[in-house]
Amino acid sequence: MTALDVDWSLLQAKDVTRKERLSSDDPVSELDGPVLAKGCDQVCTECEAKLVTGATPTHSLANNLWIGELPWQLKGHTWAEKMMIAKVRHNRCVVRVASGRGKLVANAIMFATPIRKVYNVLPLSCDELSEVLAFVFLGSAKPTGEDFVRTPMFVRRQRVKDALDWLKLNHRDYHTLETSDANLIDLPEEGIPCGVEWKKTEEGESNLVPEAMSVD
Ligand SMILES: [Zn+2]
Repeated sequence: MTALDVDWSLLQAKDVTRKERLSSDDPVSELDGPVLAKGCDQVCTECEAKLVTGATPTHSLANNLWIGELPWQLKGHTWAEKMMIAKVRHNRCVVRVASGRGKLVANAIMFATPIRKVYNVLPLSCDELSEVLAFVFLGSAKPTGEDFVRTPMFVRRQRVKDALDWLKLNHRDYHTLETSDANLIDLPEEGIPCGVEWKKTEEGESNLVPEAMSVD
């Protein structure tokens, strides 16, 4: 890539990147140099053609497409944990988890809401969560902690807190977000966030969700 004779300032951009902040004492600053993905040392012919004519390629990170590397604080969240940290919500959801013959099958139905909701306080409170999410567990026995770990509804309080702390420091849309300690404390250390409706089905009952009964 260094062999390419192009004007590298074409890949420099203001207000596009941001240096990771580890504490609120760190200044808000941008990365130095051209905006490139980590380890990137190749260019496709399409971008090269743009660069040699002196234009910033449309699909270059410098063209407002940079999001940076995903930090560990934002990796590996369950579906429910993601709901807890999302600032914008434009759907409601019903999740049904059916348990049968040692197998769990989850179905989720999403409904679009006409007006999107923007949260200024996170994580969601129990009431707010129940406005956008209903969770039903079908099974012959009351769900156990072990069952919950296997569902997308599993929430770990610390993982939610780590993500929100990182976003507040590093994501401009979360800068003014208020983290509610009360809502955080309401979350289980490890478990299911709010009331779960449990519907008993008889052992061997045939009206279970068919996928839960199959033996593949
Ligand atoms: Zn390209």
